[in-house]
Amino acid sequence: MVVVMAAEATQQDVDAIVRLVETAGGEAFVSRGVSRTIIGLVGDVDQFGALNLRSYPGVSDVVRISVPYKLVSREHHPNRSVIRVGGVPIGPDMVTVIAGPCTVESHEQTLTAARMAKAAGASLLRGGAFKPRTSPYAFQGLGEAGLRILADVRAETGLPVVTEVIDPASVDLVSSYADMLQVGTRSMQNFTLLQAVGSAAKPVLLKRGMNATIEEWLMAAEYIAQRGNLDIVLCERGIRTFETATRNTLDISAVPIAQRLSHLPVIVDPSHSGGRRDLVLPLSRAAIAAGADGIIVDIHPRPATALCDGEQALTGTDIAELAAAASVLPQVLGKSLTPAPQPAAVH
Ligand code: PEP
Ligand code: MN
Repeated sequence: MVVVMAAEATQQDVDAIVRLVETAGGEAFVSRGVSRTIIGLVGDVDQFGALNLRSYPGVSDVVRISVPYKLVSREHHPNRSVIRVGGVPIGPDMVTVIAGPCTVESHEQTLTAARMAKAAGASLLRGGAFKPRTSPYAFQGLGEAGLRILADVRAETGLPVVTEVIDPASVDLVSSYADMLQVGTRSMQNFTLLQAVGSAAKPVLLKRGMNATIEEWLMAAEYIAQRGNLDIVLCERGIRTFETATRNTLDISAVPIAQRLSHLPVIVDPSHSGGRRDLVLPLSRAAIAAGADGIIVDIHPRPATALCDGEQALTGTDIAELAAAASVLPQVLGKSLTPAPQPAAVH
């Protein structure tokens, strides 16, 4: 059961509900969003029903929810959410393109990739500074130096930055540079990381674990929401199957299913799912056609020398083709491409 407090509810109103629930033998988890406070109740639902919580000051709604993920469920919040990343919206009625290098390698490489991303229709820049590599011998990313490059390129291009955080200890550091915190497929069930980004004041891009069911993915989102951060975007990035022709199998049906179960936006990563450049454009088109709220795409000026995932990076003439798909396909569905923000004027 979830108690939704009104915007004007006071701290005393919230405390009163928590006390009532605890007196009734239940537990109350308070989640403070930017515009509302939500209290998730754990315990005997029938007993909570008898408390008539709806009649208390500051309570806007009391919702009984049958699914195990409550705050992120569509039962709790029937309208689909719009999440803002550095002012750029992701949500229904639009397609938002995030693009950039898999890994930040240098200022020149990141700036060139960001300009290519903009030309491809992107309004947000992606790029990893902390890389969760399968091999300990593979390039692990530039760390804070990479974050500084991303911040410089944001100032030069106006594109807000999406970058991965791989452990709870670096959430504050990454938050101080990034506009959105990415939780990668390998970290989807790192519950202490989910709680740490749930306490951060930045939106979160939550990739689906490559071995996770849709319900496990939504439960991971619930960990973030339960700590008060409801600014979450879900990202389908392919799952493990028996197929060896692709790195992972893009589960396209996860897009409409997750959108039906959750109010959170759902985007697709056509680069990490297929792991092959020749599949990125077809999978991008498929994602938009299936109703994805956006795509996140790897781009590199020189894929042959990329330090990570060069084999899946778009480059050259691919950029114009991605731009065409991103501008034409949303219109077929009555949506529009989210425009890129302008760089702030230099004074
Ligand atoms: C990435 O987007 O850089 C990445 C590592 O993706 P994933 O977590 O989906 O493998
Ligand atoms: Mn990658």
